[in-house]
Amino acid sequence: MRPRGGRAAALLLSGGLVLSGGLALAPVTAEAQTPSGQSAADEVVAIRAGALFDGTSETLRENITILVRGGQIEAVGADVTVPAGARQVDLSGWTVLPGFFDMHTHITSDPADGYRESQFRMFPGEATLVGAKNARLTLQAGFTTVRNAGAAEFADQALKRGIEAGLIPGPRIFTAGKGIGITGGHCDGGGFRPDFRPETGIEDGIFNGADEARAAVRYQVKYGADLIKTCATAGVLSAGTEIGPAQVTPEEFEAMVETATMLNRRVMAHAHGIEGIRNAVRAGVASIDHGAVLDDEILAEMRARGTYLVPTIMAFEYVWQAAESGTLAPWSAIKAREIVPQARASHRRAVAAGVPIAFGTDAGVFPHGTNADEFRLLVELGMTPPQAILAATRNAADLMGVLDQGGTVEAGKWADLVAVQGNPLEDVELLKEVGFVMKNGVIYREGGAPTAAGW
Ligand SMILES: [Zn+2]
Repeated sequence: MRPRGGRAAALLLSGGLVLSGGLALAPVTAEAQTPSGQSAADEVVAIRAGALFDGTSETLRENITILVRGGQIEAVGADVTVPAGARQVDLSGWTVLPGFFDMHTHITSDPADGYRESQFRMFPGEATLVGAKNARLTLQAGFTTVRNAGAAEFADQALKRGIEAGLIPGPRIFTAGKGIGITGGHCDGGGFRPDFRPETGIEDGIFNGADEARAAVRYQVKYGADLIKTCATAGVLSAGTEIGPAQVTPEEFEAMVETATMLNRRVMAHAHGIEGIRNAVRAGVASIDHGAVLDDEILAEMRARGTYLVPTIMAFEYVWQAAESGTLAPWSAIKAREIVPQARASHRRAVAAGVPIAFGTDAGVFPHGTNADEFRLLVELGMTPPQAILAATRNAADLMGVLDQGGTVEAGKWADLVAVQGNPLEDVELLKEVGFVMKNGVIYREGGAPTAAGW
């Protein structure tokens, strides 16, 4: 769905996925400094967890010690030997889980920005500042990794670099750069007179034809995109387009996915209508995001191929409420009333059919930091609480191609941990009250409040 907010939203929405390797994944970066200046790489932290959901099963383990060193988990178990001098963190009254992943954010945009107008008003640096504010909110809410589904002017790259350099607290970000798509499509910032917003090309994520689709992928990767986001159909919030028809041809999709794959990147597809979803799935995208219209045939194909669905239910609920309250633009309200009931039915069928689901919200369409409300909505779709948590941990890491590095609490993985009070397997609403957040071995929240590192 197109975010309302910012120039980033207007021009972008691109998304992407994945990758493996690269500086972004290095376990210890400049940010791994404690407030005292002592390097986290030298510090050993021993966390006593009253209960642990480690992401490798659907159950809790009790009275577990997690040993962290150098930004990574060194050992996990009931009888781990704690080295003398280790810093002790007592979470014996808490349930510890892997840090959450949100696979669809627009972290450099806010809903209040008004995406259509802000593209003409906001300076490029403003989007990065908005992103800095949202990065902190996202991390404090327990989301230690996000897949950013589009930003203009490479604001996402700037934000990611600032976080990795330790300038500001924030999640690990996998960036898409600008979303790429066709002239007049959802990834084009259209709807204005051409003298206000002249036609653009590859540099703005616009392609027409397979060769230009290849060039558009290469351009985003050149400037640091970790994944590619494309717009397979129109969106609820974009103006002047019907939401049903496909926007990208099978040939364009194949060129895009083939080029991205050569460059070790995955493709995420914003898609609502069934024709666009078919083109995306059959070309081999990693995920269908939103996925409002899904029939039994495509659900069977997605399951067989392992294509993830990222439902972004919060975005659908937001536009539904905005349409009901009259705060949505008239052209968007018409689309929202048509598409939201279909999306609810499609997502239920996807869960029942066993299609792989990864957690993603479309934060930026609604306020950042509230991402964990998606857990409740996933359970309402028919997922069990453990399944909903796995969607935000193990499954999301698999979608990103980083399951060997994160997504579960196991030795050798990123020391990304969160903790809540009570049993979230009985009530996922507890996941909205994260009291402890560690990322790369650095504690950003403890005892229900930000630490000095978390501001
Ligand atoms: Zn989006």
